[in-house]
Amino acid sequence: MSCSLFQIAELDEDRHFELSDYQGPVARWCSGCGDHSVLTSVQRVLAEADAIPERTVFVSGIGCSSRFPHYLRTYGFHGIHGRALPLATGVKLSRPDLDVWVVMGDGDCISIGAGHWIHAVRYNVDMTALMLDNNIYGLTKKQTSPTTPQGYSSNTQPYGSWLPPMNPLEATLGVTNASFVAQTAEWLPAHLFSTLRAAHEHRGFSWVRILQRCPHFTADIFGDAVKDPSRVELLVHDDGITAPGLDRIIEHRTAHDPSDIDAARRLAEESDRLRLGLFFRDESRPRYEETRHLPHLTVDDKLAALEKELDRHAV
Ligand code: SF4
Repeated sequence: MSCSLFQIAELDEDRHFELSDYQGPVARWCSGCGDHSVLTSVQRVLAEADAIPERTVFVSGIGCSSRFPHYLRTYGFHGIHGRALPLATGVKLSRPDLDVWVVMGDGDCISIGAGHWIHAVRYNVDMTALMLDNNIYGLTKKQTSPTTPQGYSSNTQPYGSWLPPMNPLEATLGVTNASFVAQTAEWLPAHLFSTLRAAHEHRGFSWVRILQRCPHFTADIFGDAVKDPSRVELLVHDDGITAPGLDRIIEHRTAHDPSDIDAARRLAEESDRLRLGLFFRDESRPRYEETRHLPHLTVDDKLAALEKELDRHAV
């Protein structure tokens, strides 16, 4: 029996999934690694959204967090260093029906992948991009990354990182056409889950920086904030991210309207506290896939166009 696309879509609407439908093999990250927490939250977001596993794709680059696709029972593409975003963009442009997620580390996204990061924000293709920021290259054993604190000793700079760290929030908010920018921390699972859900629901390119513990190499970097919630400050607003149960834990709050890009840029500047929440959201920003108006081409059409193009170079 064959089904039309319309019939398949109707069948999909009747399907419901459990958390276990997204859970792959046991993750091989170190014990206590913040990546475990992010993986669980992502699986919960997928389950709550009833995301169809075979229409969901996780694309990653290289790094500890880039092992993400292996631990999910969805489609996945473990790509090459710094190139997760162009790979994911290609997937989304050729299959706009797919739900595309991108998982990168700090080195992957804002060092070798920096050019792709800036332009992915500008192109605003409808995807959910997560940057798990542990302030170090973990997979390659403690090398300085762009977000390593100044003076922090690593295997590449044993006398301390020479330069002040990049501020990826400020940089992302400075890119023309940014449409969703948020920051959360993996040790606050309620906030993490609410942030990932909001990012997933956003139509456009959602970019989330997740502060992530690496107990193996940078245990001390976020250690104070984990033990002392007064080091954290929440951005709050009716249109922002609300996380149940945090009222009793985190006392510092700042009202911030996420439609105000100027205020978002000011709040993204360095502060004594870690600011978490939705910095900016604007769903009216143009999305590349809408502005391109790509014609629908069959496989035969594409092959014919490719042959024609190649024939131009025949000698
Ligand atoms: Fe996690 Fe750090 Fe271990 Fe990598 S090295 S798996 S980031 S704890």
